[in-house]
Amino acid sequence: MPRINENFQKLPGSYLFAETARRTKAYQQAHSDREIIRLGIGDVTQPLVPAVIRAMHEAVEEMGHRETFRGYGPDFGYDFLVNAIREGDYAGRGIDIAFDEVFVSDGAKSDVGNIQELFAPDAVIAVTDPVYPVYVDSNAMAGRAGDWLGDRWDRLVYLPCNEENGFVPPVPDRPVDVIYLCYPNNPTGTVLTKDQLKVFVDWAKENGALIIYDAAYRAYITSGDIPASIYEIEGAKDVAIECNSFSKTAGFTGTRCAYTVIPHTVKGTTSDGQTVELNAMWKRRMATKFNGVSYPVQRAAAAVYTDEGQAQVRRVIAGYMENARIIREGLIGLGYKVFGGEHAPYIWMKTPDGTDSWAFFDKLLNECQVVGTPGVGFGPSGEGYFRLTAFNSTEKTREAIDRIAGFGARG
Ligand code: PLP
Repeated sequence: MPRINENFQKLPGSYLFAETARRTKAYQQAHSDREIIRLGIGDVTQPLVPAVIRAMHEAVEEMGHRETFRGYGPDFGYDFLVNAIREGDYAGRGIDIAFDEVFVSDGAKSDVGNIQELFAPDAVIAVTDPVYPVYVDSNAMAGRAGDWLGDRWDRLVYLPCNEENGFVPPVPDRPVDVIYLCYPNNPTGTVLTKDQLKVFVDWAKENGALIIYDAAYRAYITSGDIPASIYEIEGAKDVAIECNSFSKTAGFTGTRCAYTVIPHTVKGTTSDGQTVELNAMWKRRMATKFNGVSYPVQRAAAAVYTDEGQAQVRRVIAGYMENARIIREGLIGLGYKVFGGEHAPYIWMKTPDGTDSWAFFDKLLNECQVVGTPGVGFGPSGEGYFRLTAFNSTEKTREAIDRIAGFGARG
């Protein structure tokens, strides 16, 4: 038998969503007459918009004719999509991204999970807490997280985000190689202002750290004052990689397309002090392990940047943000403490009277038949918080809040 990577043995089971699903199923089986409303889902529910569907159909048709058929595409994305990204997501904001600094991929999950291959086995990693679990688990699989202590890893540097610090993470209190930031944030739904993000860019510059910036929810930002890209911050092109996705921007969770930007100016160092461009390393990595996103999907993604596509996806996002408003204002009206949900499809609520996250999950399920996600599942600082999402229908979202109101507010 082959010897295995024992780091996998250290991973705790994927407890969070398995356990919420188990409890929900058990409740449904015992109460088959009650309808459960799911506000735990982190997946979109609205269909792809017409401009995207049309582009995909046309591309599929091209694939059916010898003259227009395409085999393997360019390793890092077709010109038409890379240029649409550069123009639509960057040039319009005054950010100049070179053609070969964009890498089209099948998902931000793949990119944020795979990017750690570029770092030394003993690189020190910082994550905000609570956190999107992929940053943590992908480093744990590579052995960088150390040992699991039951609620945290002993080699990771956690940057707590909570009510006390207004969900603005502190900079690391020791040297680190890499900092993962995600804004608008999953799970807290909170954002950083340009000034708050600049503190991290400056810290990274002064301390030789790299920022991996996950902007998967940038399309949900409703104010021009909140940065949609870390490259809006002066100096970020020297210290930051940015990951974006069409999943939440344009409903591509089942279609799969994303991209990562690695400026040539972002560098790493070898143990003997040589400087290496991370862009060159990622090119090598992608060319070796990835064969590109399908042509019809890249055509579909490019259609998101057309005027028609933009108008259509903006309407869908406005619908989700209306749900976020209903949840946010509804819960505030009932006396709950609520964060996020203004520039993100996630609402992060404080559980009442110090109830722990799982007890609150059970209470909402049993009393209101509403399902959310216990905050502690996203990291130790998530204890005492609860995540609700805006991806259900507006009708069901309203009904969920009505049920919580009927159940007696903070009861
Ligand atoms: N990054 C964050 C913060 C997410 O919440 C998600 C999905 O929920 C992803 C990345 C995954 O994106 P993709 O569907 O492009 O893999």
